[in-house]
Amino acid sequence: MPSCRVCGKSAWIRIPWANAWFCREHFVEYFERKVWRTFEEYVPKNHKRVLLAVSGGKDSISMLYSLAPRLVAGGYSVSVLHVDLGISGHSDSAREVVSKSASELGLDLVTYDLESEHGFTIDRVAEAVKIRLLRKPVCSLCGIVKRHVLNEVALERGFDLVMTGHTLDDMYGFIVSDIVSGNLVELAKLKPYARGESGFVARAKPLFFNYEHENRQYIVAKEINIVGAACPYKPSEGKAVVRSLKKQLEELERGHPGIGIMFLKNFVNRVAPILERGMVNSEAELVNCSVCGYPSSTSPCSFCRLKQKLEGARS
Ligand code: SF4
Ligand code: ZN
Ligand code: ZN
Repeated sequence: MPSCRVCGKSAWIRIPWANAWFCREHFVEYFERKVWRTFEEYVPKNHKRVLLAVSGGKDSISMLYSLAPRLVAGGYSVSVLHVDLGISGHSDSAREVVSKSASELGLDLVTYDLESEHGFTIDRVAEAVKIRLLRKPVCSLCGIVKRHVLNEVALERGFDLVMTGHTLDDMYGFIVSDIVSGNLVELAKLKPYARGESGFVARAKPLFFNYEHENRQYIVAKEINIVGAACPYKPSEGKAVVRSLKKQLEELERGHPGIGIMFLKNFVNRVAPILERGMVNSEAELVNCSVCGYPSSTSPCSFCRLKQKLEGARS
């Protein structure tokens, strides 16, 4: 029986890329240290008011439990943001899970109800996609909504850093798909930290180097509740490029443990800086959206265009 690399007790889990076995307790310690290391290495020390965006799924809940207590101990003011997207059979339980987690950790919770704030839900977006009023996949539109809302809440409530639970698997999928489509401007932005600029709050992804399976095990090890049912709009396997790429990474990892970490480290530390230097003059100039006033490459911005289409269809 393999034994824990730290204490020598019977091992509970093997981390293939590190070729290490851990008991439950020391796996939790390893996991939390790893997330903190990413935060310390990439996030500048000048932030004070941090907003953790938590959906209730395994990844954002892992971020919340592994990072929030250390941030609080480090003197940061930490709040949780949950966006209720209005997805039937999903949003109610997600809201409940996040509310319980925030109160368990003694954190202030901001619940943002998309329908009462903006008059639509992701269910309505999905209906509009079905009748071809909107021509992008539901998840792309949902991504536009979440990005806008996170920034809006952070700016209006005076937070200077927003953190999300994007994982190594997500980032691998985004990077390869941006290379496939030649979207270099977006590719250069895929980093663990993006500094704030006028109209945009700084963002960090502390799980940038965490595999999703590690997050899953952390949830099991700590016996934390997460939202049970997956979002009904999650694309089925093979339908979305990023989903297929994530699957491909799992295959790659089986034969080459740690290839995902190596890929992301080299991308962030060696490729992204070169890309960024090359991108200096090629970014579209930002204007202020004529409707919401936030900076965007188009006016109205994509969030306001989406909202206007839905309002137009209703009237
Ligand atoms: Fe939004 Fe898609 Fe995630 Fe559902 S699966 S919450 S629609 S991004
Ligand atoms: Zn141990
Ligand atoms: Zn706008």
